Amino acid sequence: MIESYIRIWKQVDLKEITKHLMIIDDIYGMCANCKEIGLNFVKNTKCPKCGTNFLYLTTKNYKEIPKILKRIQLENLPYTLLEKEDWEKASSKNALNSLFQ
Ligand SMILES: [Zn+2]
Repeated sequence: MIESYIRIWKQVDLKEITKHLMIIDDIYGMCANCKEIGLNFVKNTKCPKCGTNFLYLTTKNYKEIPKILKRIQLENLPYTLLEKEDWEKASSKNALNSLFQ
């Protein structure tokens, strides 16, 4: 088995993703569901404020991505890492196929 990281195109339910998404900015994360800040994706697999369980992570800091992926693997964390720009584009007001405009 050759283990590698690749970015996959997949049709998703954006509401479901946003409900279970943590947005990582530098060190700390924010719950995309209730906007709670100061979260740690290793310790907080659930949001302490709204109780949602996190399944997805995203960050705009590309330098952090290898570290985050390594941590997910080492700690066996339940996350899928998303491309932030894709999520932002899909979340924008003109959501319909906005990735392709
Ligand atoms: Zn929350």
